[in-house]
Amino acid sequence: MIRHASVAGDGNSKDSVVRKKILLKHGVDPSKIILGEQTHGINIAAVKSILPNLHPDTDGFMTDLPGVALGVFSADCAPVFLSSMDNKVIGILHAGRRGTAAGILPQALKQFRDKWGVDSQNTVLHLGPHIRKCCYEVDLTQRLLEQAAAHGIPEENRTSDARCTACGGGFFSYRRTKTAERMLSFILIK
Ligand SMILES: [Zn+2]
Repeated sequence: MIRHASVAGDGNSKDSVVRKKILLKHGVDPSKIILGEQTHGINIAAVKSILPNLHPDTDGFMTDLPGVALGVFSADCAPVFLSSMDNKVIGILHAGRRGTAAGILPQALKQFRDKWGVDSQNTVLHLGPHIRKCCYEVDLTQRLLEQAAAHGIPEENRTSDARCTACGGGFFSYRRTKTAERMLSFILIK
């Protein structure tokens, strides 16, 4: 079973005390989450152990380790959840305008296939809450879903949260308030 969530309502997840509370509330061991120093790049780490748990210059993660959560921070950028249909491999990406244009999603799908043996036909993709075209001229939703389709993820396996982080309420929005606060998204194999 795979658990995934995007959480903003409990405060700034960049704060380690807040983050610990969020994770405990969601039944995740706070010592077992992998995070990155995100740079809007396309580096994706293959996670084979719990350490290191903070990866420099990394905007995505993949693993097949049960009980190890993969996390990304965002405030308008899209958290992208990936899993194999048999729930044995998972991934998460931080995809904003730059990362999406640079191709972090196609890069992830290539790694899913080459490093983990999961082809796009057997991949499930979900976009967590992000800024939508009502508030942003760059339509991340459309670009990411088009990339997913172009790389062979079946239509029934491509979904997106409908809420906009800028105007939907309850989310941190960099574009709306230039906030330094971030929502946490995570995925793990239970
Ligand atoms: Zn909006």
